[in-house]
Amino acid sequence: VKAIGKPERSVVTTCAYCGVGCTFRAEMRGEQLVRMVPWKDGKANHGHSCVKGRFAWGYANHQDRITKPMIRDSIDQPWQEVSWEEALDYAAGKIRKIKAEHGARALGGITSSRCTNEETFLVQKLIRAGFGSNNTDTCARVCHSPTGYGLSTTFGTSAGTQDFDSVMDSDVIMLIGANPTDAHPVFGSRIKQRLRQGAKMIVLDPRRIDLVKSPHIEAAHHLPLKPGTNVAVLTSIAHVIVTEGLANEEFIRERCDWDEYQDWARFVSDERHSPEFLEAVTGVPAETVREAARLFATGGNGAIYYGLGVTEHSQGSSTVMAIANLAMATGNIGRSGVGVNPLRGQNNVQGACDMGSFPHELPGYRHISQDDTRKLFEDDWGVTLDPEPGLRIPNMLDAAVDGTFKAIYIQGEDILQSDPDTHHVAAGLAAMECVIVHDLFLNETANYAHVFLPGSTFLEKEGTFTNAERRIQPVRRVMEPANGYEDWEVTQLLANAIGCEWDYSHPGEILAEIARLTPTFAGVTWDRVKSGEPLQWPVNDKAPQGSPIMHVDGFVRGKGKFVVTEYVPTDEKTGPRYPLLLTTGRILSQYNVGAQTRRTGNVVWHEEDLLEMHPTDAENRGLRDGDYARLASRAGETTLRVKVTDRVAPGVVYTTFHHPATQANVVTTDNSDWATNCPEYKVTAVQVTPSNGP
Ligand code: SF4
Repeated sequence: VKAIGKPERSVVTTCAYCGVGCTFRAEMRGEQLVRMVPWKDGKANHGHSCVKGRFAWGYANHQDRITKPMIRDSIDQPWQEVSWEEALDYAAGKIRKIKAEHGARALGGITSSRCTNEETFLVQKLIRAGFGSNNTDTCARVCHSPTGYGLSTTFGTSAGTQDFDSVMDSDVIMLIGANPTDAHPVFGSRIKQRLRQGAKMIVLDPRRIDLVKSPHIEAAHHLPLKPGTNVAVLTSIAHVIVTEGLANEEFIRERCDWDEYQDWARFVSDERHSPEFLEAVTGVPAETVREAARLFATGGNGAIYYGLGVTEHSQGSSTVMAIANLAMATGNIGRSGVGVNPLRGQNNVQGACDMGSFPHELPGYRHISQDDTRKLFEDDWGVTLDPEPGLRIPNMLDAAVDGTFKAIYIQGEDILQSDPDTHHVAAGLAAMECVIVHDLFLNETANYAHVFLPGSTFLEKEGTFTNAERRIQPVRRVMEPANGYEDWEVTQLLANAIGCEWDYSHPGEILAEIARLTPTFAGVTWDRVKSGEPLQWPVNDKAPQGSPIMHVDGFVRGKGKFVVTEYVPTDEKTGPRYPLLLTTGRILSQYNVGAQTRRTGNVVWHEEDLLEMHPTDAENRGLRDGDYARLASRAGETTLRVKVTDRVAPGVVYTTFHHPATQANVVTTDNSDWATNCPEYKVTAVQVTPSNGP
């Protein structure tokens, strides 16, 4: 504090990195942000923070920020700086022309999980009401879309069941495909705190993450499953619970569909689902599975937390439903200490899903084909909506290559770096007549753009984020937008340029519209959010103060639904050409594709993505720690430095995806979840050979 001088004022706002949603006091000197101090009254963080929220905010003033709009007629031409009016007229002219020549369905857009609820709501409104198509999608397509499908099907709502505080009442914590001490650090610390108090931990992960064993912490059971076998392991756990008479039949009879439960119980009881039978498939010793199953069923309050290691698979939606089955079978739903909880990656991915970003759903998860819901929006917006679901991101790219999809508006999302099969993404973008990128930096996707609209950071805007526990929190303006506008204003200007008569003057007015049209947000107002009221949706007549825990008296869908989830092996099979399985993840100091964190001091903690490899696999290839290796799959190849470690099992390699130089997604394939098209990032058959370097 001495070095930077005493702060003159402070503004309380919400972190824009992960789905924990920590609250900070942004301390200012003049117009200069001098530090971010975790706020003791923050409902999600209780005064704690991690190195991202605390230190990685300098990107807001980074020299790479683009603050002037730019246009160009083709992607091989240099960018030309223009006025906002000229850029918006140019973009609107392209949109109008394409709509006239090819129809509304040739247009679409992508919302951002980094932006506020209000901004996301406006982007999907622009696409549906302004462009006239339902071709809207969001980054949840590539992360938690299976959560949406799986939890809606089984419980009736597309969200985690608990607040974060609930974990302090858990006796057994099952962690599946998540690494919270790196990806959700403040909640990861909460788990550690509960473990130190005596709770037991079961970890399902191909890699030995910190929560398996670190100082003062040791999981009761680590199930180091082969990548791609989540459903098989969960089915074998269910087998033990049912065949050993450990299911909570009283809960099931009262709360779930009993006939569906019986069908499911018969299915999991089959001998081919026993841990012994499946051991060769999953790689997990049968006795470990049995002990873990017994502990979860009999150890008291059992809570399940999961991450992208569940969803980013060809069986992502099946895995989410298998998790829900397990929670219902053991009666672990509807009270503190239990539940099924997706750990959301991005600060507002929950909100982006809630706000109607998906091509088949209007805000509040209501299907676009429902006449009464569509009419509600049509009457409010004064338009006629397309009743057919639109295209998902991969389908937009396919249609672009086929010549039927022509223009896209992308807000705050770098699909070239974050989506799978980079070559296909590039081909799709290159085939479009108009790509409008609305972002902070000239990201990789912008290489294919014709219009660049400068974005604003979370420090420069107002609105709300919804964290992984459905908590709607205020985002407050700390400094003036470097480009002159908040992102919702830019979307409104683009809408005005194509003829929509919108005149919102503050995000609070957009939030009022959201509340008017979305029953789960009915009781949410800007004044309530701004005052710091703890509001977790649903907030409505039935729950005026919000809902920290869901499905307390009954499931949102009525009876809980057991779904039979048959294990189907992934297409990514190892063989002589590609003998190893690659899986991917994050590290503590960096965030996703690194667009923000790499432009802050945090970069010193992680200068490159490394390829973790078991000592046996490294030795077999003549590789030593620090050597370069070529990583190749049937989709592509890249070069990475090797880190030899027994954190990964033999046959498995692991890397992060934070640096554009290594582009891990060059090697991930176009396999995807059967229900939602979420890419199978977590399993790729690869070959690793020595290399002289990039
Ligand atoms: Fe931000 Fe997540 Fe870290 Fe909290 S845990 S400070 S929300 S990145």
